Amino acid sequence: MDIAIVGAGMGGLALARVLHVRGIEAVVYERDASRGARRQGGMLDIHSGQRALREAGLLEQFLAVARREGQDMRLLEPDGTLLLQEDTPEDAPMARPEIDRTDLRSLLLDSLPEQAVRWGHAFDHAEDGVLHFADGSSARYDLLVGADGANSRVRPLVTDARPRHLGQNAVELAIPDIDRRHPALAAMVGRGNYWVFGEGRSLAAQRNGDGSVRLGVSFYNTGENWFTENGFRFDDPPAVRARLTELLAGWDPRITALITAADDTITPRALTALPVGLTWPANPTITLVGDAAHLMPPVGEGANMAMLDGAVLGLALAAHPHDPGAAVAEYEKEMFERTSAAARMSADMQELLMSPDASRRLLEFFTSH
Ligand SMILES: Cc1cc2nc3c(=O)[nH]c(=O)nc-3n(C[C@H](O)[C@H](O)[C@H](O)COP(=O)(O)OP(=O)(O)OC[C@H]3O[C@@H](n4cnc5c(N)ncnc54)[C@H](O)[C@@H]3O)c2cc1C
Repeated sequence: MDIAIVGAGMGGLALARVLHVRGIEAVVYERDASRGARRQGGMLDIHSGQRALREAGLLEQFLAVARREGQDMRLLEPDGTLLLQEDTPEDAPMARPEIDRTDLRSLLLDSLPEQAVRWGHAFDHAEDGVLHFADGSSARYDLLVGADGANSRVRPLVTDARPRHLGQNAVELAIPDIDRRHPALAAMVGRGNYWVFGEGRSLAAQRNGDGSVRLGVSFYNTGENWFTENGFRFDDPPAVRARLTELLAGWDPRITALITAADDTITPRALTALPVGLTWPANPTITLVGDAAHLMPPVGEGANMAMLDGAVLGLALAAHPHDPGAAVAEYEKEMFERTSAAARMSADMQELLMSPDASRRLLEFFTSH
């Protein structure tokens, strides 16, 4: 059976690895030209996904690089009032450790044979059991797995559903080498997460394993054209930083100093999600894993679900090596149920974050958990 996986993200790589350890070789077709072609972004909070890493035989290696102290958190109000501070004890369980996205991807990539990932293969369309790539090349498949993320090109082969704007627009920034360049800001953020919630806006800062702090400044209940309407020019990083500081007028200057300290790597993000509880009619030769199947608000479930999808599908294929239809049916039954619960929980958390009294509600949420 030729198993073609489109996309070398967390879901696609977890699937390839779980198959590999069970003696089944799949091919992963990835759009990026090489593993280092694109910066992978910040940290991931990995909890239920640890089960997938165990099935992949990589749990110990994961725990050796994951950051326990990344679980620390500080919650503040815009005037600088500290509502909550939790520091992780040295012997705390690794329940939700953080890991750099690049490290997790490398762990999965290094565990696969070199020829398992074909770089520079951007999937374009599929027809009669043949995949066609943007460069004109093609490959045959018996089972096609769309693991190509939020804007999946494989998804339309199984469903008409499209991601919808969540009413949240965010700007991502980074402060590299923060301990040396801005020690006071480094101490203020601490070892893990630093969250400030004001009415309709928030600033999230997070310590990364590479010595940087990454920031996300979010604006809630805003529309799809909000960046343009608010005069953002992303080709002018100093102007973006100034505009963000202006939009956080009245906030404690120690908090907005994080924005001023950031470098010129600035990414705008219009956040989208698929409908909660999305399913599609069974197709024995095509299925989806990860964000392609169930894009959710980014509140810490997506990568975990993507890796679990990969593991569950891998195990089902290993149990039905000559019957992809039976494997897909078994996988989708479990996946639809598990991920709709996670999507519901993520949507509830998103509703909380978008509410005018988000900081107080978050405080209640954390103290009651
Ligand atoms: C700011 C932010 C923070 C987050 N934090 C967390 C967190 O703490 N914990 C958590 O669990 N989740 C988190 N998430 C969600 C998580 O990042 C995603 O859910 C997860 O990466 C999904 O994995 P995936 O494999 O489905 O897709 P991706 O990781 O997006 O991988 C898709 C891959 O497919 C490739 N691709 C795309 N199109 C094509 C094509 N046409 N042909 C070939 N290849 C293609 C891409 O280049 C990419 O390599 C966060 C998301 C965001 C935006």
